Amino acid sequence: MEAPREISDLNTLLPCPCGKVPTELHLVDNGQGFKWANASGDCCGEWMIEFRTEYYKLDSPAAMNLAFHAWNAALRASAHEAELAKLREENERLKFMLNQFKSSGARIPIGDCSNFVSVEELLSEKDKSND
Ligand SMILES: [Zn+2]
Repeated sequence: MEAPREISDLNTLLPCPCGKVPTELHLVDNGQGFKWANASGDCCGEWMIEFRTEYYKLDSPAAMNLAFHAWNAALRASAHEAELAKLREENERLKFMLNQFKSSGARIPIGDCSNFVSVEELLSEKDKSND
């Protein structure tokens, strides 16, 4: 097992899912006989991680080290979700543009440019070629 980092590493706390980097963690006992405690950031105070206290007092540097470790090790869905949200937004924009284009009745030259097809025809051609 990796040794707990020094408190000086606190300046490398990873961001909270709310997007901010907390400047400190608040440790609270979660009623499991002091074996486990919760830590939340001073950013939003909403995201909470659970960590093993090893029975260190919560106001001790050792407990803060453990909380720090657990905080940085905890999985964050936020980056992934932000990426998904961006892709969904882009998808909506492309759908909108495609619908605008379809309803405009525009025709697109394909191949040697002597054949013009509508967007509908082009899309159905594409579907056929996928078979
Ligand atoms: Zn936060």
